[in-house]
Amino acid sequence: MPYKFTFDLSKISRFFFKEITKVSYQKGMHKKVGRAVHEIIRKFKIQEATGLNLSDAVLLLEDFIEIQAKNLLERERFMQTRKRAVFLPHCSRKYMDGRCKATFNPDIPSYICAHCSPNCLINRTVSFAEEKGYDVYILPGGSCIQKILKAKHYEGVVAVACGEEIKLGGRMLKSMGTSGQAIPLVKNGCANTSFSIETLFSIL
Ligand code: SF4
Repeated sequence: MPYKFTFDLSKISRFFFKEITKVSYQKGMHKKVGRAVHEIIRKFKIQEATGLNLSDAVLLLEDFIEIQAKNLLERERFMQTRKRAVFLPHCSRKYMDGRCKATFNPDIPSYICAHCSPNCLINRTVSFAEEKGYDVYILPGGSCIQKILKAKHYEGVVAVACGEEIKLGGRMLKSMGTSGQAIPLVKNGCANTSFSIETLFSIL
C-alpha cells in the first residue's frame, strides 16, 4: 500500500541521510528520537521543500529511521549472505515510454535494461550491482518479489521501494528467512521516482 501523499526529497541536502543514520543509532531512546525527527524536519526545511504537512513529514521520517535502523541491525547477517539480488522499481527508469529501450520478460517477471541512457538511475544501478555480483530485477510491482524469491532462493536482498512497501516486503523476507537491506524512495509517484544512488552503492 503506497503512501496517501506524494513527496519529493530529491533536492534535500545530501547530509539528510547521514542525519537519518545518526538518529537510527539512537532508536530505542524514543523521547530523544521523537525530538530529533522534528529537528531534522526543521533543519532540512522538509515542509518548505516538499509542501508536506507536519504529520506526513513525521510519518515519512519515522519510516526512514525505522528502515535505516533495521538495515543496521540486519547488516552483519546480510554481509554473510552469498547469493544476492537487487530489486528496483521500474518507475525509477529515466523514461516510462518508448524511449526506454528495456524489454520486459513476464516469465521472471522483470524489465531488462538496455543501457540506453547513461544518466538513468536504473542503468547506473544495474551496471554497478551486476559488477558486484548481484542479480538485478527491475520490477513492475512489489507482488513479483515473492515469485522471484521462491524460484531463485536468494539469501540476501537489497530492495528500493517506497517506505510503506518496504515495511510489507520486510515482513515477507522475514517469513522466508531472507536477509534484507532497503533503500527508501526519496521521490514517490507512478513515474520518475528516485532514490539516493550513493546510499544504495554504499549498501551493495
Ligand atoms: S537505461 Fe535502461 S532503464 Fe533506463 S531508460 Fe534506458 S533501457 Fe530504460
